Amino acid sequence: QKAFDVEAVRRDFPILSQQVNGKPLVYLDNGASAQKPTAVLDAMDRYYREMHSNVHRGAHTLGDRATTAFEGARETVRRFLNAASTREIIWTRGTTEAINLVANGLAPRLKAGDEILVSHMEHHANIVPWQMIAERTGAKVVPVQITPQGELDMDSFYSLLNERTRILAISHVSNVLGTINPVAELIKHAKARDIITLLDGAQAVPHFQPDMQALDCDFYVFSSHKLFGPTGIGVLYGKAALLEEMPPYQGGGEMIERVTFQRTTWNTLPYKFEAGTPAIAEAVGLAAALDYLDSLDRPAMESAENALMKRAEQLVETVPGMSIIGTAENKVPVMSFKIEGLHPSDIGTLLDQQGIAIRTGHHCAMPLMDFYGVPGTARASFAFYNTQSEVEQLFAALLKVQRLFA
Ligand code: PMP
Repeated sequence: QKAFDVEAVRRDFPILSQQVNGKPLVYLDNGASAQKPTAVLDAMDRYYREMHSNVHRGAHTLGDRATTAFEGARETVRRFLNAASTREIIWTRGTTEAINLVANGLAPRLKAGDEILVSHMEHHANIVPWQMIAERTGAKVVPVQITPQGELDMDSFYSLLNERTRILAISHVSNVLGTINPVAELIKHAKARDIITLLDGAQAVPHFQPDMQALDCDFYVFSSHKLFGPTGIGVLYGKAALLEEMPPYQGGGEMIERVTFQRTTWNTLPYKFEAGTPAIAEAVGLAAALDYLDSLDRPAMESAENALMKRAEQLVETVPGMSIIGTAENKVPVMSFKIEGLHPSDIGTLLDQQGIAIRTGHHCAMPLMDFYGVPGTARASFAFYNTQSEVEQLFAALLKVQRLFA
């Protein structure tokens, strides 16, 4: 297998070659948002320079060009996910809006006493929308427990499945722990009981490509900005039959078939869920990001990423009092950690002074912080453009921080 040429890849990301606080930038906050390759910047620039207009309005050439680019982007996403049809690909503002859309759309199916199964490691985006729908319908949000290593407790999962369970909404990959959940197994058991399944793929897609037809989940959601695409757009994949059944999320232009003051009818999929002028340039940018990823040697990229995590795990013992939170067997290169006697936000600030960007805090996963009994963690999250040398710089900097406070 040929080695992954990380230096060549880094040249595709102009933002990476700058100094921050007088030091070369080491960007390890990819879980919060990833950087964009030139291919994405150029595609969006070209779109605005050469083809911008509103979509689906016809009547002139620019409108046709914009529509072709926009619908072409939808097809690129369909291919990325191996979804059966572009009717099943809905543009949203991101993961958060996609989950709110699904929760709202499934509300008519819910009644008092029904249960929505989530997990203890969910991002707030996959907890709060369900709580809001539960409030409206009398349903209940129930968390599957996790183990101290940060894996789903499968006994808890099996024991919570019952005749009241209607929905299973779970992260494919945890944003804090990096854990890759055993989604095939979860979906199999859910399907056997006619439970609707939603996977939050926000942290999965930057690392590997999920296959909708193989997974057979009912819904899959992700954000473009974590996948090297622009902010402001994300994707909801949904099975056509369920999307057909669900009421629209927002009303307005584009999502209708015919409007009268007596009665309005809905447009066909996917447009029924796309009220208003969409984020056209962003769709084009996301498609460019997917094409860019497609141009890389994915297996080599994944093994290079995993090597970053391995190196980090080796170096943990060089920093006194440091420990990793989230040591699942099967995980993406995300390292949440704590250092005895140090507050996560101090770690973040001191690393920033050395040009190293990480995230600190509760990571929008307060129930998970409660589980570990910490107010927050420090988190370094790696992307394929990070290097072994950057991992080593992180640990050298952590050692300096630790000594400063020891
Ligand atoms: N779910 C997970 C697992 C996430 O990591 C994030 C982003 N931190 C979200 C949902 C929310 O994504 P967004 O803010 O892009 O809507």
